[in-house]
Amino acid sequence: MKVLVATRSTQGTRPSDENRCTEGELVFMLDPCLTSWLDLYGRKCACGRSFLGMSSLQSTTTARVIEVSGLTLEGYEQALAECFVAEGWCRDCFAREAPNMLDDLVGFASALPVGAVVERRLDTLHVRRVGRLKGRAGGSDGRRVGTEG
Ligand SMILES: [Zn+2]
Repeated sequence: MKVLVATRSTQGTRPSDENRCTEGELVFMLDPCLTSWLDLYGRKCACGRSFLGMSSLQSTTTARVIEVSGLTLEGYEQALAECFVAEGWCRDCFAREAPNMLDDLVGFASALPVGAVVERRLDTLHVRRVGRLKGRAGGSDGRRVGTEG
């Protein structure tokens, strides 16, 4: 199945980019808090633009879609469960939060091509261009580059 993993690819495209994750680890997304809804660029809180690594418990602003052959939904859920345990969250938190998180992760990854590098704005993912810094074709995809500060 397709999954989202942490990547350094395209880091530095935005001034707000950061990546403290382990390259290639599975990531998940917390629901954006109210502060991040009010500040899309995450200057006060980065939760609405961040992915969190399931192993490192660190954050990154970029994730890549990869295909992991043999990974099942149960295995994906197990990885998330281990992350919750490592974070010290309780079983009730997991039972409440995990189904929605997995729905989001599976839904986003399945809709994106393998190899796509994405950034996050709240509950939307945007594909970044990889390896084509020059000769852009006019931004007809509706994507806008934020001007930070
Ligand atoms: Zn927040």
